[in-house]
Amino acid sequence: MAHIIDGAAIAAAIREEIRLEVARFKADHGVTPGLATVLIGDNPASATYVRNKRKACEEVGLASFGYELPATITQDAVIALVNELAARPEVHGILVQLPLPAHIDDQAVLAAIPLDKDVDGFHPSNIGRLGLKGRTPAFAPCTPKGCIELLDRSGIAIAGRRAVVLGRSAIVGLPVALMLLARDATVTVCHSKTTDLPAVTREADILIAAIGKAHFVTADMVKPGCTVIDVGINRISDPTRKSGSRLVGDVDFDAVSQVAGAITPVPGGVGPMTIAMLMQNTLLAAQRAVAHSFTL
Ligand code: NDP
Repeated sequence: MAHIIDGAAIAAAIREEIRLEVARFKADHGVTPGLATVLIGDNPASATYVRNKRKACEEVGLASFGYELPATITQDAVIALVNELAARPEVHGILVQLPLPAHIDDQAVLAAIPLDKDVDGFHPSNIGRLGLKGRTPAFAPCTPKGCIELLDRSGIAIAGRRAVVLGRSAIVGLPVALMLLARDATVTVCHSKTTDLPAVTREADILIAAIGKAHFVTADMVKPGCTVIDVGINRISDPTRKSGSRLVGDVDFDAVSQVAGAITPVPGGVGPMTIAMLMQNTLLAAQRAVAHSFTL
C-alpha cells in the first residue's frame, strides 16, 4: 500500500509558516500584504475557489480585496480594473480567476497584470521564463509549485528521475513539466494525441496527472513504487452522498495506491497546496515591494 501524501497537512504546516512570517513582516514594516481577487461571471466553481482563497488570506493575516464583475463586462473594463489595482500600493498581488467569459481574451487580461504582482504566475512572460535555462519566473504558478513542494516535503528525489506529466495546459501540465526539468528530472509530457500512453506512464518514477478525467490513470499504467501526484478535480455522481456527488481525481486511487510507492488523495492532495502557494507568492510580492528588490 502506497504512502499517502497528506497535502492538507503539508499545506496547513506551510500556512502556519506563512502566518508567522506575515506577522513578522507587519511588525517590521507596518504593511499588510494584500491580494486582490477578480471574479467575473457566475461560475459556481470559480466563486468557491475565490471564496476559499480569500478565507485563506484572512487566516494567515493577509488583506484581501474582492472584485466581482458581471459576465457581460467588456474586456477593456476588466483591463482598466487590473490597471487600477496595479497602481494601488496596498495591493501586492492580483489574481484574475479563470476561466473568463468567452468574449474576453484571457491572455490579454493576464498580460495586463504587472510582473511584480503576478502572484498566480500566469503572465506569458512568467511562463516563458520557466523554460529558459538560468532564468527563474517572478512567481511560479501555484498548482505546479504546489506539486513540487509536495515532492520536496515528502522527501521524494526529483533529479535524475523519470517524470511523466499527463496534460500540457498552460496552467498545470506545461509549467509543472518545465519545473521538473529545471530540477533535473528527465521529463515526458503526454496529451490527448499521445499513442500507447500506458507504455509511457509505466516508465515514470514520478507521474503527475493533470487531464481532468475521473479515474483515468489505472493500476496497470503505473510502475510499482512510482510517486503519483493527482492534480485532477472531477465531480462524479454518488447517490450515497447527501449532495448526490463527490470530487475525485484523475487517478483511480483505490487501485493505484496498491501499486504506487506514494500517492496524493483527492480531495486533500494538490488542492490545498495551490492556495498555500498563492499565499506564499503574495507574501513574497509584498517583501519585494518594501525592499524595492524586484527587477525585470
Ligand atoms: P485542460 O483541460 O486545460 O488540459 C487538459 C490536458 O489533458 C490537455 O493537455 C489535454 O491534451 C490532456 N488530455 C485530455 N484528455 C487526455 C487523454 N485522454 N489522454 C492524455 N491527455 C489528455 O485542464 P487543466 O490543465 O486546466 O486541468 C487539469 C485538471 O486539473 C482538471 O481536473 C482541473 O480541474 C484540475 N486542476 C486542479 C487544480 C488544483 O488546485 N488541484 C488547479 C488547476 C486545475 P490536449 O492538449 O491534446 O488537448
